Amino acid sequence: MFCPKCRQEYIDGITQCDECNIALVNVLPEEIYSVNSKNIQFEHVLSTSNHADIAFIKSLLDSKNIIYYFQGESTFNVTLYNMIQPARLMVKKENVEKVKELLKDVNIKYFAF
Ligand SMILES: [Zn+2]
Repeated sequence: MFCPKCRQEYIDGITQCDECNIALVNVLPEEIYSVNSKNIQFEHVLSTSNHADIAFIKSLLDSKNIIYYFQGESTFNVTLYNMIQPARLMVKKENVEKVKELLKDVNIKYFAF
């Protein structure tokens, strides 16, 4: 058992943290996340080198609580705009269809590869 606030570990049978006076949990939230994330499969949905599109997609997917990331975005260099590789939008497998649906009506100049 762990305290979610101070992360102190307690033996089984104790249900509350002495320090924080809050209920203990079996697994710390970060650990739950890291365990799950190993099982998350991401699929490539689209690629774009347009910063405005990337910003738009991020705000759209954030608002829908969709798990995603842009692969290769860190290599972006504005001055080499057309020469660099586009960033690849990677979406959690089960959200792929939903994301395609969301982006269907959006006018994004992207390459799918
Ligand atoms: Zn505590």
